[in-house]
Amino acid sequence: MGTCYSHLSPDERIRIERLHCEQGLSVRETARLVGRDKATVSRELKRGLWFALNALEYTGKPVLALMAEGNLQTQFAPSVATKKDPAKDEDPIQCAVNPDWLGNKNANGNSASLADMTDKAIDLLQANPKSRNGFFLQVEGASIDKQDHNANACGQIGETDDLDKAISAALKKVDLKDTLIIVTADHAHTSQIVNEPPAYALSTILVNKLGERMVVSYGTAPSADPDAADPTKGYGQGDMEHTGTQLRIAASGPGAQRVNGLTDQTDNFFTIANALDLAETTDQMKTLSDGADANLVVDEKGQRVEFSGFNGDASVTYTVTDPTNGDAVIATSGEATDPVSGVRVRTDQTMSIDLTGKLTEGKTYRVTITGRQSGKVVAKDFQAPAAAAGDDSQVVPGETVENPGDNTSAAGQQTGVAGVLDKTGSAIAAVVVLIAALVSTALALKTVKGRRH
Ligand SMILES: [Zn+2]
Repeated sequence: MGTCYSHLSPDERIRIERLHCEQGLSVRETARLVGRDKATVSRELKRGLWFALNALEYTGKPVLALMAEGNLQTQFAPSVATKKDPAKDEDPIQCAVNPDWLGNKNANGNSASLADMTDKAIDLLQANPKSRNGFFLQVEGASIDKQDHNANACGQIGETDDLDKAISAALKKVDLKDTLIIVTADHAHTSQIVNEPPAYALSTILVNKLGERMVVSYGTAPSADPDAADPTKGYGQGDMEHTGTQLRIAASGPGAQRVNGLTDQTDNFFTIANALDLAETTDQMKTLSDGADANLVVDEKGQRVEFSGFNGDASVTYTVTDPTNGDAVIATSGEATDPVSGVRVRTDQTMSIDLTGKLTEGKTYRVTITGRQSGKVVAKDFQAPAAAAGDDSQVVPGETVENPGDNTSAAGQQTGVAGVLDKTGSAIAAVVVLIAALVSTALALKTVKGRRH
């Protein structure tokens, strides 16, 4: 039966647990009894909303997410920022736990805070045999940002606390000898802790657990907005804006020294790629398409060119022509108009160009596939066989065309990188990045000691 969990109200949650977990009623019967309509339940079941994180085991299948209808509830109930008013000093706000927060323990002692989800995500990643090659996990406290837009001090503070706990959860779970943890934010926001409520801005006066006063000011949306969605707030929901303050970045584990001092935001890519031992330079990335190939395949599904190995590319373009008929185009992806246009590459998968009904038996055709980023060109001539009647696949060997056109010169330099997203040197295996969305995110990258292939 497993442990039940629901994103619904605490009341519904308890009823669901009683009916489904204790009495053993089916999910649908339980749903009917708690008054959920069929369509909602189907949607929720597809999203896995009914089941606890601690009942979620690694099965080799992808886990999409634990989702709610809208934003997940914050740890603290919302507070409202208002204009400067001496009366606010008399009645400071103490942030109160939100009964709908998923981090509240339910009757079975289960919860789904950001820390719980981080813990479970790392469990699932570590249980995956492929994690020997490392993994990348990004954890984001997204409502730090969202509630700051809403000038909701309690909401954003609770969410920041959640992120802090998620970092602790990640630290307990991983070995910093082979895991890099980065904590940073993707941008700053409007809220400032100030001494006194400004006359020109909305503010909230809080009292902390020690009884100390703290004023939070929001200065990027008007204090009197005639179009405000909620007149009691005086501003439109979500009106507060991002700001350009420099951000904190901190890290532990292999590669943490790369974020010492000042780090350009774009350097994070290289820090992470280096920790996971992935291709970092353009030339290294281009070589990931070295193994690209194409074959004509004929079976009961029809005739098609299958191609794969363009793993250093985001997109490819292709043409299939008839050289005996003035290079008439049989199939094409069309012109590439910008550096990333073309057919999107599905990394490490085989893609195909359907030629069913377009080929004449015995005739020779030329396929040319070009990696848009690597410049790698695969050009082959195939002689079309008869369309297969049975279900045996027939792979037709093609003749590689050595000089198919002007594109060959664009191929990348060879720097000894092999395989899909393969290692480029002898480094490490996981990275966890935690991002505070004032925004914050944390990334855990499991890095693996590896050898050059
Ligand atoms: Zn934002």
